[in-house]
Amino acid sequence: MPHKLYKILLILGIVAVLTAIPTFWLTFKAASDLEVIFLDVGQGDSTLIKTPYGQNILIDGGPDNTVIKRLGEELPWWDKNIDLMILSHPHEDHLNGLIDVIKRYKVKKILYTGAIHTSPNYLAWLELVRDRNIPIIIIDKPQTINFGDECRLEILYPLENLAGQVVNNLNNSSIIARLVYGENKFLFTGDAETEAEKKLIGLPPPQAPPPLRGRGEMEYVDLQADVLKAGHHGSDTSSGIEFLNLVKPEITVIQVGADNDFGHPSRRIIKRLERLDSQIFRNDLDGTIKIVSDGKKIRIQTSPQPSP
Ligand SMILES: [Zn+2]
Repeated sequence: MPHKLYKILLILGIVAVLTAIPTFWLTFKAASDLEVIFLDVGQGDSTLIKTPYGQNILIDGGPDNTVIKRLGEELPWWDKNIDLMILSHPHEDHLNGLIDVIKRYKVKKILYTGAIHTSPNYLAWLELVRDRNIPIIIIDKPQTINFGDECRLEILYPLENLAGQVVNNLNNSSIIARLVYGENKFLFTGDAETEAEKKLIGLPPPQAPPPLRGRGEMEYVDLQADVLKAGHHGSDTSSGIEFLNLVKPEITVIQVGADNDFGHPSRRIIKRLERLDSQIFRNDLDGTIKIVSDGKKIRIQTSPQPSP
């Protein structure tokens, strides 16, 4: 082998090692934290979860393609994987951005309820999912998805199969899920209203006799969470007192756009959360809200918007 070739191989070898060390270090370092990023997408919901094991999960996509810009800010340029996409329910402010996400990212799997909705954007999204051959799975009962030893997503709601069904109020078909990493928990509620909250907590209907004394806590689902994404953009249709008392959120995130037409969030709900000593973060005031967990403690980073 000529002397020159040895030299080239040696240089290539050194370059490979120098590249591998920081890559390994970055990967190793990233493996210890969970990031839950409430993206600032205006009036709508979109949350990116980066698991400690390297998976990217996207719950909802907001009302337009702003989500593409936000994902670009949060993911390195080479990472175009969305390991799991979840559509909480098919309303436009949760769905629309997911169309461009599918066009620009490699989406590996989708979860949804399959409840009937006939808006053009929803039908276009379904067609795109079919065209790209993305596995799409109906959530027809509560179940748990493990992302690694200490990180799991507990899908708590809906309690029944809604596929192919007409649902009166699609908000109450929203997938509700609790993400657990070590001792930290995050509760995602889509646009679920108090009707869904009550079904979930198993409150007896008003005419029924009160529960027997000593009724075991096991009969109720565990909803406690450090961080709650307030249901339905902080509207007073959601975040009922009984529900909040079970969740006991230290932090509540409200995904809401500035000066929205709906008057979200409701002042009543803000007051209710303040009485519970829950620290409130809102996308309209705090920009994208990033919550990082090491499995024991959480820390918060915001990017406040300049006032208009
Ligand atoms: Zn919504």
